[in-house]
Amino acid sequence: MHLDPFELHRPTTVEEAHRLYAERPAGADYLAGGTDLLPNYKMHLNLRPTLISLDRIPELARRDGARVGAMVRLGDLERDADFVGRYPGVARALREIATPLVRASATLGGNLLLETRCFFFNQSEFWRASLGYCLKADGDRCHVVPQKERCYATFSGDLAPALAVLDAEVELAGPGGRRTIPLLDLYDRAGDGIRRTHLRPGEILTSVLLPPAARERSATYSKLRVRPSFDFPELGVAVAARIVDGRATELRIALGGIETCPRRFDELTTPLEGAPLDGPRRRELAAAVQAAVRPVHNTFLPPDYRRRMVGVYVRRALTEVVGATAVP
Ligand SMILES: Cc1cc2nc3c(=O)[nH]c(=O)nc-3n(C[C@H](O)[C@H](O)[C@H](O)COP(=O)(O)OP(=O)(O)OC[C@H]3O[C@@H](n4cnc5c(N)ncnc54)[C@H](O)[C@@H]3O)c2cc1C
Ligand code: SF4
Repeated sequence: MHLDPFELHRPTTVEEAHRLYAERPAGADYLAGGTDLLPNYKMHLNLRPTLISLDRIPELARRDGARVGAMVRLGDLERDADFVGRYPGVARALREIATPLVRASATLGGNLLLETRCFFFNQSEFWRASLGYCLKADGDRCHVVPQKERCYATFSGDLAPALAVLDAEVELAGPGGRRTIPLLDLYDRAGDGIRRTHLRPGEILTSVLLPPAARERSATYSKLRVRPSFDFPELGVAVAARIVDGRATELRIALGGIETCPRRFDELTTPLEGAPLDGPRRRELAAAVQAAVRPVHNTFLPPDYRRRMVGVYVRRALTEVVGATAVP
C-alpha cells in the first residue's frame, strides 16, 4: 500500500479553505488529523487529487467551555480536566478511541465525520479487485446485501453517540454561510449509505456545542470490540438522563457501530419521561432497542451476536445511569 501524490494546501481561514475547495472542480477533501482519511487513501478508496488541511485555521482549534473546535485533538480533550469533569460520558468514549498515539493526531471533527466501515471496503486495492469492487468504491454491487442497491457500511465513531445523548449541536460553515444543527441531523440515515452526511459541498464542521442541560445529566458510554487495545466499536452504547428519586427525565439512548449512522431512540424513551426506571422497565426498554436494530454482516463479529449485545449493553448502561447497584 502506498500514498499516491496529491496537491496539499494549508489555508489559514475558513473562507480561504472554501475558495480553495471551489477552485478544484476535480475534487478535494478536507484533511484534519488524517488518521482515517490517509489510511483510506493508501488503500485507494475514493481518492481526490487535492487535500485542504484545516490545521492552520486558529478558529477551528479553539476550546471555550461548552463549545469545542472541530480541530481540537482527541488527546488534548482527554487531558482537559474541565471538559472531562463536565462530560464524563464523553470522556469515557474519548478514552476508548484507538490508541494514545492515534488520539494525539485525531480530531473531534474527523471523528464525527469518519468514513463508514465494512470488511469488503477497508481492504487494499489488490484485495478488492480480486473479489470485484463494490458500490462504495469503484463498483456497482454490494457484497453484503447483494439484492439491494445501497451500501450498509457501518458508522464506527465513538463520539457521536456519546455527544448525541447530551443533545450536542454542530456548527457548519459553508460558502453560503453558517448554520447550527443538531448533531444527529448531520447524518444521512435515509440516503444510499454511500453519502454519509448532509454536509453541503465545501462545508466545514467548525465546532461542537453542548447545551447547559448536558451538565445536569448522568451519562455513560460503553463499547463492544474485539481487541480492547485499539479496535473500532462493534457496538457503542451511550445513555444519559436526569435522575431524581429513581425517576428519569431527559432520557436518551444512542448507538453507534451497528448501522450506517449513529442513531437515537427517542420514540422509545420519550413515553417513559418521568417514569421510575426500575429493573423490569430497564429490561423492557433494552429489549425494545435490541428489537429495533438490524446490523448486517460486514464487521468482525456476527450480526446476531452484536444485536443480542445491544440488549445487554443498553440494560447495563441504564442500570449505571440510574445508579442502581445490581444489574437485574
Ligand atoms: C488504528 C486505528 C484505530 C482506530 N480506532 C478507532 C476507534 O476505536 N474509534 C473511533 O471512533 N475511531 C477510530 N479510528 C478512526 C480515526 O482515527 C478517528 O475516528 C479520528 O478521530 C479521525 O479524525 P481525524 O482528525 O484523523 O480525521 P481525518 O482522517 O483527517 O478525516 C476524516 C474525514 O472527515 C473529514 N473531515 C475532518 N474534519 C473535518 C471538518 N472539520 N470539516 C469537514 N470535514 C472534515 C475528512 O475530509 C475525512 O473525510 C481509528 C483509526 C486507526 C488508524
Ligand atoms: S456494505 Fe456493500 S456497498 Fe457498502 S462497503 Fe460493504 S460491500 Fe461495499
